[in-house]
Amino acid sequence: MQTKPKRNTTNSTNDSPSLLRGGGREEGFRPVTEPFVPERTSGLSSYPPPEQWDDWTELDARAWPERVEKHYQIVPTICFNCESACGLLAYIDKETMKIRKLEGNPFHPGSRGRNCAKGPATINQVNDPERILYPMKRSGPRGSGQWERVSWDAALDDIAGRIRAALTEGRQNEVMYHVGRPGEDGYMERVLQSWGVDGHNSHTNICSSGGRTGYAFWMGIDRPSPDYANARFILLVSAHLESGHYFNPHAQRIIEAKMEGAKIAVMDPRLSNTASMANYWLAPAPGTDTIVLLALANQLIQHDLFDREFVRRWTNWDEFMAVLHPEIEPTFENYVQILKETYAGFTPELAAAECGVAAQTIVEVAREIGKAGSAFAAHTWRAASAGHLGGWTVPRALFFLNVLTGSVGTPGGTMPNVWNKWVPRPFAEPAKQKVWNELTWPKEYPLTHHEMSILLPHFLKEGRGKLAVYFTRVYNPIWTNPDGFTWMDVLKDEDKIGIHAALTPTWSESAWFADYVLPMGHGPERHDSLSYETHNAQWVGFRQPVMRVAMERMGQPVALTRDANPGEVWEENEFWIELSWRIDPDGSLGIRALYESPYRPGEKVTVDEYYQWMFENSVPGLPEAAAAEGLTALEYMRRYSAFEIRKAPERQFNDTIPAAEMDGANTQPNGVIVSPSPRPHAPNVVPMPGMPPGSMEGRAVGVVVDGVPQRGFPTPSGKLEFFSRTLYDWGWPELAIPCHIDSQVAPSEIDASNGEMVLLPNYRIPTLIHTRSGNSKWLNEISHSNPLWLHPSDAKRIGVDTGDMVRIETEIGHFVDRVWITEGMRPGVAACSHHLGRWRLQEGEGNERWSSALVDIQQTEPGVYKMQQIHGVGPFESDDPDSSKIWWQDAGVHQNLTFPVQPDPISGAHAWHQKVRVVKAGPTDRYGDIAVDTNKSHAAYQRWLAMTRPAPGPNNLRRPMWLLRPYKPDPSAFALDGPVGRRERQP
Ligand code: SF4
Repeated sequence: MQTKPKRNTTNSTNDSPSLLRGGGREEGFRPVTEPFVPERTSGLSSYPPPEQWDDWTELDARAWPERVEKHYQIVPTICFNCESACGLLAYIDKETMKIRKLEGNPFHPGSRGRNCAKGPATINQVNDPERILYPMKRSGPRGSGQWERVSWDAALDDIAGRIRAALTEGRQNEVMYHVGRPGEDGYMERVLQSWGVDGHNSHTNICSSGGRTGYAFWMGIDRPSPDYANARFILLVSAHLESGHYFNPHAQRIIEAKMEGAKIAVMDPRLSNTASMANYWLAPAPGTDTIVLLALANQLIQHDLFDREFVRRWTNWDEFMAVLHPEIEPTFENYVQILKETYAGFTPELAAAECGVAAQTIVEVAREIGKAGSAFAAHTWRAASAGHLGGWTVPRALFFLNVLTGSVGTPGGTMPNVWNKWVPRPFAEPAKQKVWNELTWPKEYPLTHHEMSILLPHFLKEGRGKLAVYFTRVYNPIWTNPDGFTWMDVLKDEDKIGIHAALTPTWSESAWFADYVLPMGHGPERHDSLSYETHNAQWVGFRQPVMRVAMERMGQPVALTRDANPGEVWEENEFWIELSWRIDPDGSLGIRALYESPYRPGEKVTVDEYYQWMFENSVPGLPEAAAAEGLTALEYMRRYSAFEIRKAPERQFNDTIPAAEMDGANTQPNGVIVSPSPRPHAPNVVPMPGMPPGSMEGRAVGVVVDGVPQRGFPTPSGKLEFFSRTLYDWGWPELAIPCHIDSQVAPSEIDASNGEMVLLPNYRIPTLIHTRSGNSKWLNEISHSNPLWLHPSDAKRIGVDTGDMVRIETEIGHFVDRVWITEGMRPGVAACSHHLGRWRLQEGEGNERWSSALVDIQQTEPGVYKMQQIHGVGPFESDDPDSSKIWWQDAGVHQNLTFPVQPDPISGAHAWHQKVRVVKAGPTDRYGDIAVDTNKSHAAYQRWLAMTRPAPGPNNLRRPMWLLRPYKPDPSAFALDGPVGRRERQP
């Protein structure tokens, strides 16, 4: 019998709003004007009260023992060092007008005043003597390191002219914006769609494409939002407590649950800090996680520990029966019988044999999950889903456990993320682009969740296209991606990339190969609106330039943010407004009109006006909460930087559709309800499956369940899809239900007798964040090496001890690193953090000297490269006296250069896990050595490409129309014979 959770929240199901309807109801808001004083702990409730934020007094520690008062303005903003978007308070010295420190913002609903080490370290980034303060233009060959200062006007005019030419000459697909960490919601979508280009590219297929795909096939929504705080059992397939997605907001709630008695299981071949806090550490062989999860599911199924009623009502079991078992009477009982037969082979003994997880552990964890029932929270994001071929089957199998336990949208369960997120609309939204860019969305990958970013250099090498203007922003493809030397080759080639503008606060390996380096602000120097599913609530955050706000509070008007930032450092919001204006100065392209003020017709919109309109018109409850304090909505957000719209919007799929909304709607044979009216601005609008391209004559608004019209899920069936008709119809019928795929690192692929091992190169550490923390002296003092983790048995076999050097041989080359021997590693598996190994090509510039080694790169024959470290990190002279006191020498080792691209043929996710040989370093090997043959990497690309099953799918589409796609084009662009690269005039 199903065991129900012991705790409930006070929120009712019926007053929850529905994002699936494209907007929220107005009732039930609980505006928050009180700090988030933690309920279960004490000691974190002492923050400066907001009424003293204009003049906060502290004693100057440096003046001790004198009691000298310092007066500060406190301005809230939002951290930009990871995707958690925690709140920060900037303390601005009123005498010097410098930021003194950054601490947590208690008014932020996600972080509640707490931060990790990277939040306060933002001050290092602001004061970094190595940062770029002025726009720079290349004055020699690309990559030669010759630069000259250039004015913003000159840079803007040059770039705008090239974009205008591309647009007017029908070369829309030659304009590309490639972003690493967006850190905002919707702004760039508006910009790129205003230009009519399909030019967005992202880092996502080296990150979360696999995780998203597994969730999207289930529910049409690609992210989970676990309600950790109320969970009874938590299953994490990753290191969420120390470095996961929404790390600090999640970590504090996981620990709260643990303090209330919840149990935690962690799956990871590495004993992470997270695993060390868990009740169960499961360390399956890489590539076998799905088997473990399906074994857990099988225990629930065979022992009737699943929520039958939830599965009956909310999964498309009937479609599964009709398509795959037409010979059997389609009753739910017959389905359950087939379910039991289908998964019967996933026994605890199989998991023990294939994965190395004890059979008894499978039985115990399954019992705990069954006991937790609807209060079972689970999450995966990168980890295994970004590790191997078929990684997307991991989240699919994990969410199967949520479905079986009915823990979808429940207190303590796991929500679709859109219920815990709110994206405000901007004014004057542009039409969707009517072009499709095959450089990012190629025919071979019709189901890829995001752009095939890592394949761009291979596509350019093959002559599939070229770029006139290529922007990189918070993105360092040479360093971050696999196969970096191929990126370097292509970035240097002016025939393939006409102009490369790097929008970045700091130098990086890739910015060195740009034409323009345009300095953009750090977190406290820019505007962004954002909202993330940090917990079971909906909130909107406002990142703002704190010096600008402080100056304005003191009566000094600031026209542009760069007037308040250091040097000529700007912010993207204003940059894109100005660039768009210059692309279409006379308004003939229809672009300029979208950048005219909603309040001053014909005049250029200001950043204040942009957010004023958004906060007044598109954040429910905010204008009222602001008015209660005598503020406008914008003033409120400038004062607090975050607003909680509502708490605990649960079970929205269960909402009954009001009769008025059913007017004119018709119900399809499968129960899906279709409304005749298009609603272009609604999030998660589901075009009807098979809807003819160009048609928006209808949208799915719900599904009839037991005779009642309900919201359902944005999938073709309106339900959670145990059976994916999409996979079935698009060439993958064998993967249509949750299943396991043998991968490139499956145990059967590893010849241990030949010294082969699996390398996990993609784990994070808590104190660094990709390539964005190389500019923090505090963080690099804490963490500056990435040794290879080895189990003692492997170290003994290889003949090395901690500190010895090894050569790690990959398919395309090798790298040399030191080893760290630990029993916290599964035997046969090695691990190396991806955060370290930064480098530069010139002594005094080109990258942060807090964190980078000086290297020499040699091309020994066509496509064959060697990189050697000349020296590591060391003291240097700068305006910061600390730079002369650097005591560490290590910069780590850049392992990503030695990996080929390995894109999953369905999700498009790069499979980071590598089959390697680890051998003792030879006499000529030196620490940090890299050797790569890019000819081999191109052959690896072709091998993985051959695994794909290209479009078209049904109706000659290049992609299923219902699947999520960032920057989704107009439906007409989905037809395989539709316009590619040419822009039709927007209506
Ligand atoms: S978890 Fe740390 S780095 Fe990430 S947003 Fe919060 S404070 Fe910043």
